Amino acid sequence: MTEVLVSGASVAGTALAYWLGQHGYLVTVVESHPGLRPGGQAIDVRGPALAVLEAMGLLQAAAERKTNIRGSSVVDRDGNELSRDTESTPTGGPIDNPDIELLRDDLVELLYESTLPRTEYLFGDSIASLDNRGPAVDVKFESGSARTYDLVIGADGLHSNVRKLVFGPEDRFIKRLGTHAAIFTVPNFLDLDYWQTWHYGDSTMAGVYSARDNSEARAMLGFMDAELHLDYRDTEAQFAEVERRMDGEGWVRPQLLKYMRTAPDFYFDEMSQIVLDHWSIGRVALVGDAAYCCSPLSGQGTSVALLGAYILAGELKMATGFDGYVDHGRGFINYFKRFHAYVQRTQFLATDNIAGGAPISQEQFDAIVHSITLLKY
Ligand SMILES: Cc1cc2nc3c(=O)[nH]c(=O)nc-3n(C[C@H](O)[C@H](O)[C@H](O)COP(=O)(O)OP(=O)(O)OC[C@H]3O[C@@H](n4cnc5c(N)ncnc54)[C@H](O)[C@@H]3O)c2cc1C
Repeated sequence: MTEVLVSGASVAGTALAYWLGQHGYLVTVVESHPGLRPGGQAIDVRGPALAVLEAMGLLQAAAERKTNIRGSSVVDRDGNELSRDTESTPTGGPIDNPDIELLRDDLVELLYESTLPRTEYLFGDSIASLDNRGPAVDVKFESGSARTYDLVIGADGLHSNVRKLVFGPEDRFIKRLGTHAAIFTVPNFLDLDYWQTWHYGDSTMAGVYSARDNSEARAMLGFMDAELHLDYRDTEAQFAEVERRMDGEGWVRPQLLKYMRTAPDFYFDEMSQIVLDHWSIGRVALVGDAAYCCSPLSGQGTSVALLGAYILAGELKMATGFDGYVDHGRGFINYFKRFHAYVQRTQFLATDNIAGGAPISQEQFDAIVHSITLLKY
């Protein structure tokens, strides 16, 4: 049986583990966090990615965890409502749409459960080094253990460890978009009822929206600065930067900053894209943000990760003979060929505004989202 090590247990890693398991591979997932990593804002699963969820039997369960946000308000610095919108989402699309909007961590939990019990998880560990030159990949883990796998897949996100070990330093592949955001859970202290509230300050934005049937809320504090590059691991520097930027900008920022320091799931990053002209070297390949992060500004990061996982697993299956031999090179190349143009179109969704052109229309957005036909593997 072909043994695959997947690094990262978020959207791409768990979805890949599911599909590889379906196709008869033996899968281990190593995740650096001690469990599934919580946090993140509400994300959308849309277009063909809904078909992937459906094929996994998760459509209904995902729909049951929808945020069901009814609309949004923009308020002034004292909290007085300036406008309200029950027609469109803050990012522009219609509120009444076929997409499934749910919390990132709720989706990951569903995907994870779908991989049990046949997937082995190594939580709180990470790949320290790997040797990809022979007929298998020799992996040493941070914990000190060592194992050999037929294939290794990096599904470890924007700052991928596998990409760094095998493809090279992040700076070669990252395209920074200059927007920084902190996202974290807060109590629903504004008593929001399936509602989002936003305030735009002089140089920052703040948003709070209710989550999990109003039992809690998620906050987002954002700002733009193309020159700032904080270390994504330096939480103290991130706290300090967010506090400095939000100071004096009004609304409920002081409360949010207090909650931020003790939040169970603080997440901060600069919105960025990853651009590679190949997604595999030898027996190692990348999937999801590790290979082609589109950035939250595209609204497509999660859907693209689900599609990539489905296609990568499917193409490996297609490259597997009756004797069980996997022509991994063929599988990896066909994954790239089938998916690369779609990824490029999707990455454009995040950058068209930044480039200063007219924002693309809803019709153009929909056309790009649907511009892929999935094979049945
Ligand atoms: C905590 C968090 C919050 C996020 N919030 C948002 C958001 O608000 N909006 C949005 O659009 N996108 C968000 N994202 C990104 C979003 O999840 C992805 O764009 C998309 O879902 C594709 O997911 P992915 O699985 O490729 O990468 P990710 O979701 O980034 O997952 C990468 C996984 O790899 C793990 N990992 C990292 N390093 C290692 C290592 N060395 N060894 C093993 N595992 C490792 C991480 O802990 C994580 O579980 C967030 C990601 C995370 C991890």
